[in-house]
Amino acid sequence: MDLLAKERALNAEQQQQITLLEVQRRDLELDRVRHRRATLPEAVRVTDIQTDQRTLADGLTAVSVEVADLELEQRKADNDVDLVRQRSAKDRDLLDSGSINDAKQLTSLQHELESLARRQSDLEDIELEVMERLEDAQHRQAALLAERDQLVADLAVAESARDAALASLAEEEADAKAARVSAADGLPAELMALYDKLRADNGGIGAAALQCGRCEGCRIELTPVDLERIRAAAPAEVVRCEECGRILVRTPESGL
Ligand SMILES: [Zn+2]
Repeated sequence: MDLLAKERALNAEQQQQITLLEVQRRDLELDRVRHRRATLPEAVRVTDIQTDQRTLADGLTAVSVEVADLELEQRKADNDVDLVRQRSAKDRDLLDSGSINDAKQLTSLQHELESLARRQSDLEDIELEVMERLEDAQHRQAALLAERDQLVADLAVAESARDAALASLAEEEADAKAARVSAADGLPAELMALYDKLRADNGGIGAAALQCGRCEGCRIELTPVDLERIRAAAPAEVVRCEECGRILVRTPESGL
């Protein structure tokens, strides 16, 4: 079925049809600006850093709890060793004082000192082991704190890059919008309505140039029959591509 036959013929001055291509060009520019804003690498970078910050904050919370627990454990281990040392010192003083003459009592005291020495050695091993674990946790904590500072600095740089990119896009968008308004100014409302509808239905392209016998909208070569029909159409008649239905604008490069 012939598209032109199906719809009431629409007329617009040839120059207005050519100006419609300028509107189309500006609309595509605006689409590109919006797409770039939605997929801005500078904004992705900011989001990535913020994600890293949340992960790091979780890690920092965990290691801080670990450090606090180990500090408690270390104080307890230190205290245990001190108690055994004090008890040993007391026993040794008693032994050295010469006040105990009973052989059985002396043996018992010496026995206790030996036992306390073993206990002290065991507790000192524990103390050392806790200290090593604490130092390890403190190192990891310090590394995360340094990383946190770095991320804060990175975020500031990334945010300023993103803001600059957004400002530049806003400028491009304002320019394209102004150019679009100025191009569309004075074009027939019916032509614009058809163009807007076709643009919405056809991936952003409602009007295309006929370039060397090919529709620039769908990139398909027109058949000789279609070319002949367009050649015969009045210059003010708004013709459509038989393949994609878009407004087909005749230009000096159309090859007619
Ligand atoms: Zn087409």
